[in-house]
Amino acid sequence: DSALQGPPWRASGFADLGARFLTELRPTPLPEPYWVGRNPQVAEMAGIDPRWLQTDEALQMLTGNLVETGMHPYATVYSGHQFGVWAGQLGDGRAITLGETQAGQEIQLKGSGRTPYSRMGDGRAVLRSSIREYLCSEAMHALGIPTTRALSVTGSAAPVYREQVETAAVVARVAPSFIRFGHFEHFSARGDEASLKAIADYVIDRYYPECRTSPGFAGNAYAALLHVVSERTAALIAQWQAVGFCHGVMNTDNMSILGLTIDYGPFQFLDAYVPGHICNHSDDRGRYAFDQQPNVGYWNLLCLAQALLPLIGEEEVAREAVGSYPEAFAREFKLRMAAKLGLAAEATEDARFAPLLQSLLGLMAQDAVDYTIFWRTLAHASTSEEYTPVRDLFLHREDFDQWLTRLHNVRLPKARDHDAVRSMLDVNPKFVLRNHLGEMAIRAAREQDFSLVHALQTVLATPFAEHPQHESFADFPPDWASQISISCSS
Ligand code: AMP
Ligand code: MG
Ligand code: MG
Repeated sequence: DSALQGPPWRASGFADLGARFLTELRPTPLPEPYWVGRNPQVAEMAGIDPRWLQTDEALQMLTGNLVETGMHPYATVYSGHQFGVWAGQLGDGRAITLGETQAGQEIQLKGSGRTPYSRMGDGRAVLRSSIREYLCSEAMHALGIPTTRALSVTGSAAPVYREQVETAAVVARVAPSFIRFGHFEHFSARGDEASLKAIADYVIDRYYPECRTSPGFAGNAYAALLHVVSERTAALIAQWQAVGFCHGVMNTDNMSILGLTIDYGPFQFLDAYVPGHICNHSDDRGRYAFDQQPNVGYWNLLCLAQALLPLIGEEEVAREAVGSYPEAFAREFKLRMAAKLGLAAEATEDARFAPLLQSLLGLMAQDAVDYTIFWRTLAHASTSEEYTPVRDLFLHREDFDQWLTRLHNVRLPKARDHDAVRSMLDVNPKFVLRNHLGEMAIRAAREQDFSLVHALQTVLATPFAEHPQHESFADFPPDWASQISISCSS
């Protein structure tokens, strides 16, 4: 197998930006690495022969133990607002980018040792959070939600010190770019306009070339960039809200300029529908509560707007470029929710639609109905026209009956509404990565049993399929699930 080629590297576009943006360095090796999970589909997407993942070379390289000639690994510098407060310089404190493949995908190792941006941290990541990131990245992708991908997760015999001694792990994540809002904030805050322009030009030329030619904003490409990022972010967060995903740490350094979900930490898929749910144990004021996410997205975009202002020139133009966010979010959210309800897109223009949706969410909150199970059960009920199972999810069943009548009044007996009903099972997943599922996989993995990691990876890769042999993954959470405490410690 030694003839098998590793990643087909090419000159890295980001590294071309130069030394003000990054520090070249090697990952710090970890002893006795072993595979916890690997994903041949992601290998293929990145232009890597999936058979390479069977080699010891892959195991060593993706743990940070092997750097070949021609690779120039680096960590990047960025800043950001954390919990609403300017935090100054941050940067890749435990992530090192190995390089970029011919397919234009960057491969980054998270947990690969200290960098000049580690501050007080050890540069490491622990097994539990690495398994969560690995499984959730791919679960989100399969749900159709833009995200960084995960090629592998490896463990090591090395200890890592958190509240307790834990196991070191490395996630190899993959994305066209890991640039964050915080990269722009960094150079802007320093008054380094040349670097700010260089990274903005790189992002536009490489990922948003249409910004150079778009007719809006009087040919101001930087305003066009702010606008398109605002639209992407709105669409992303609308998808989070529709599926019940709580990110947990929406700091500006955790916001992707490509509109990807990035930095899986204390995230959670809702179990019961609790709009103000706080998934991050460290977020005592609930800044990043589930129902705050759309507003936080806007707040973060305003930080990006502020950072881009020197390039955009006029405040009025920047304001206009970012100002479409609330409308874009509302539009995207309504479309997603209409689809979940089995309503054609036109229904969102019906004056009864918004109140219908609001009263449903009110009823679900009132009875703390399980979010994923509700939608999946409604999908089955709408196809079979047997609504008892969904009605039985509520305590206030007469309230639900009244609501159902209103749904049927909006759901017109037209062909395209039949299509929308038929599509409900394709937009309301049966499986999401609930906290307790991740927790069970983590507990087994600590005993070197990775079968649950693999089973979850398989099921979550097609979350709209039935998977009768894994029915328990679609169950209500056990009582102990609400005791799981996930903090920023990872
Ligand atoms: P996060 O809250 O995970 O987005 O991390 C915020 C900042 O802390 C980023 O600059 C991370 O690179 C850095 N960081 C988090 N954990 C560690 C660690 N164990 N060692 C070094 N840096 C870290
Ligand atoms: Mg981060
Ligand atoms: Mg993080």
